[in-house]
Amino acid sequence: MSAKKLFIQTLGCAMNVRDSEHIIAELTQKENYSITQDIKEADLILINTCSVREKPVHKLFSEVGGFEKVKKKDAKIGVCGCTASHLGGEIFRRAPYVDFVLGARNISKITQAINTPKFISVDIDYDESEFAFADFRNSIYKSYINISIGCDKHCTYCIVPHTRGDEISIPFDIIHNEAIKAVQKGAKEIFLLGQNVNNYGKRFRNDHKKMDFSDLLEELSTIEGLERIRFTSPHPLHMDDKFLEVFAKNPKICKSMHMPLQSGSTEILKAMKRGYTKEWYLDRALKLRELCPNVSISTDIIVAFPGESEKDFEDTMDVLEKIRFEQMFSFKYSKRPLTKAATMPNQIDPEVASQRLSILQNRHNEILDEIVEKQNNKEFEVLFEELRPNHSVAGRTNNNFLVQVEHSEELLGQIKKVKITDAKRMVLYGELV
Ligand code: SF4
Repeated sequence: MSAKKLFIQTLGCAMNVRDSEHIIAELTQKENYSITQDIKEADLILINTCSVREKPVHKLFSEVGGFEKVKKKDAKIGVCGCTASHLGGEIFRRAPYVDFVLGARNISKITQAINTPKFISVDIDYDESEFAFADFRNSIYKSYINISIGCDKHCTYCIVPHTRGDEISIPFDIIHNEAIKAVQKGAKEIFLLGQNVNNYGKRFRNDHKKMDFSDLLEELSTIEGLERIRFTSPHPLHMDDKFLEVFAKNPKICKSMHMPLQSGSTEILKAMKRGYTKEWYLDRALKLRELCPNVSISTDIIVAFPGESEKDFEDTMDVLEKIRFEQMFSFKYSKRPLTKAATMPNQIDPEVASQRLSILQNRHNEILDEIVEKQNNKEFEVLFEELRPNHSVAGRTNNNFLVQVEHSEELLGQIKKVKITDAKRMVLYGELV
């Protein structure tokens, strides 16, 4: 029987990328689908949606409307992911040609969804932490592995707890098996995923030995053939000394830490319900730099959260000066449905928000230029993962700088020492040593 064709579009974060890999695995191995990049020949069209960025709802309906126009006569359309979770049955009402709706916490039901007319499952309490997904990975050299699902922090600006439900940790044995399988297939690096990875072990579905994130990292690092471990996102609140010390000492853990600041003002952090203060954040980040001098720290910052005063914004700038992040993802605050902050009365004038964002980004760019300049003539171990135009191959240093060298594809999957010869803001150029 010839394979049916699957077209899948993935929006959003690494969790969504991994969810799409799970969906592809289930459909190719249990339902005889193969992947196509040509939507017109697809028998099944899926969109794996994201709710975090702006206008997700508008974007969803314009995308599926476009699919409906170009699809084959009998092709099915399915909407999965976070926007599916929060809109649910409204998707059928607004786009009646959609065949099924599957929430971010229900993707283990994908085979049921494609075989059941108008299937919908958007239960955010549904527990798929022990579901054994079939195996598919986009990259041979780097493998994403989920270690937890959901989040119950309820930061006041964030929709995730409404789309992915409460946090549950995935049992160690499942994670360990996935890591071993990935390494046997050629992965050098595993990338652990969860909304708050360093809260791992807080809640399992069934009886489980006591284990926190530091223990998990130590255990996984004993896997033979595995060279690098990365993870995202840790939460600053859970950065205890044990975690920072394990991070600094274990040579397989890549020295790149994402520390989402969100705001440098303790008052705003309180309004965001982040659970830490400016002082705690600075203490943790500076301790990290002291324990691990070659670490790269990346962050997320939201400017103009409701009620943010000039003084609050200066606190954010102060943290930027003190930590000098190697990477920063920054946004103007924007309302998300279902969140507490969306109904807060003291929203900030959009012009002020734009000014603050450009002040923050301009200063960060100056800092970044200084950081990047210092990388010239340094030597790094680089794991090469991607072919680039003009006979180049790109990869990441242990501390997450993107490096490109002129070379042929035989470098892919190898870790090699590179000397940096030219440093630009987004990419370092070098040659093999
Ligand atoms: S920790 Fe906060 S920002 Fe992160 S996913 Fe949970 S609620 Fe959202």
